[in-house]
Amino acid sequence: MNYETIFQEIYQELLSVKDIGQVADYIPELAYVAPEQFGVRLTTIDGEKFAFGDAEKRFSIQSIAKVFTFVLAYSRIKSSIWERTGLEPAGTPFNSLVQLEYDKGIPRNPFINAGAIVICDILASELASPKENILSFIHRLTGVNSIGYNDKVALSEKKTGYRNYALVNLMKSFGNIRNDIDIVMDIYFHICSIEMSCTELSQSFLFLANNGIVPHSGEQILSASRTKRTNALMQTCGFYDEAGEFTFKVGLPGKSGVGGGIVAVHPEKYTIAVWSPRLNKKGNSYKGMLFLEEFTTKTSSSIF
Ligand code: GLN
Repeated sequence: MNYETIFQEIYQELLSVKDIGQVADYIPELAYVAPEQFGVRLTTIDGEKFAFGDAEKRFSIQSIAKVFTFVLAYSRIKSSIWERTGLEPAGTPFNSLVQLEYDKGIPRNPFINAGAIVICDILASELASPKENILSFIHRLTGVNSIGYNDKVALSEKKTGYRNYALVNLMKSFGNIRNDIDIVMDIYFHICSIEMSCTELSQSFLFLANNGIVPHSGEQILSASRTKRTNALMQTCGFYDEAGEFTFKVGLPGKSGVGGGIVAVHPEKYTIAVWSPRLNKKGNSYKGMLFLEEFTTKTSSSIF
């Protein structure tokens, strides 16, 4: 299939749709992004590549990084991870505090902020140099060693991270954070600041389409069964309180971030990463969602 022609077609169609989304500005450093940028990249497990627009341009991946840290923790502590986080959709915004009190400091799932913070706590206990080890993990997935943190973005988040600090303190009060709060939050703010392009994101998620094996190196990251479960979790929890809508309209497991990126996985086939910085009210890329909806419709390639 010539995916590039389809990308072009959908892009043209969407030009006539007014982008009613807003660039994330609650993290001041993110507000500087030029909002009209748009990129997409699809990579098949057989190594075919299709790109359009700003596919090579790096942007702040934000919550997409929660998949990398979850996979790293899951590959190490296996099913005991479920003693620290749940696996149910939250149905609340990504930085919500309400449910956490009822659930006694156990986050609903690892892809909301509270869950990702617990995962950072697990990695702080498990890894010798968590920030370096997380980056080298991403380097192995992509084959690109220049991917790194943006310290300005991490600092900007730290300075304005009142809700995230509230989450970590609440969890600490329930005993679900074992390390020093500052160590955990330093990891959390840094993983959110990682910058990658659509090309690199699509490449890095390929093992999730390939039974846990990185196609270019043959490295087994997760067992086939845990890979399936990670995809199931992205399907039900990857888009916060819009996971149902994404499943309904796009029909692929995926993960979004407030930098405007979305990565979706078609198991056994391909991964697709799209980037458009303006976000809808739920914090997911407005045009990115529309683009993927059109894409899976035109190519009849949802998993359902
Ligand atoms: N760094 C962001 C935050 O913690 C991540 C949110 C997101 O991408 N949904 O608020």
